Amino acid sequence: MRKGIHPNYHKCKVICTSCGAEFETGSVLKEIRVDTCSNCHPFYTGKQRFANAAGRVEQFKKKYGLE
Ligand SMILES: [Zn+2]
Repeated sequence: MRKGIHPNYHKCKVICTSCGAEFETGSVLKEIRVDTCSNCHPFYTGKQRFANAAGRVEQFKKKYGLE
């Protein structure tokens, strides 16, 4: 390993400002704050399931000729 090619590279604490989740990564920064993480991203919340439910309503209407 050559020294000096990764200056100040160390463990970095990442904090999600939306849900408060914390995890560590490597960075030259000491701390990173993010608005969305894998814990609270819309893809992982009820919003995605709501979209699927709306799709089923559309299928129901089409099946019984309500539209
Ligand atoms: Zn989060």
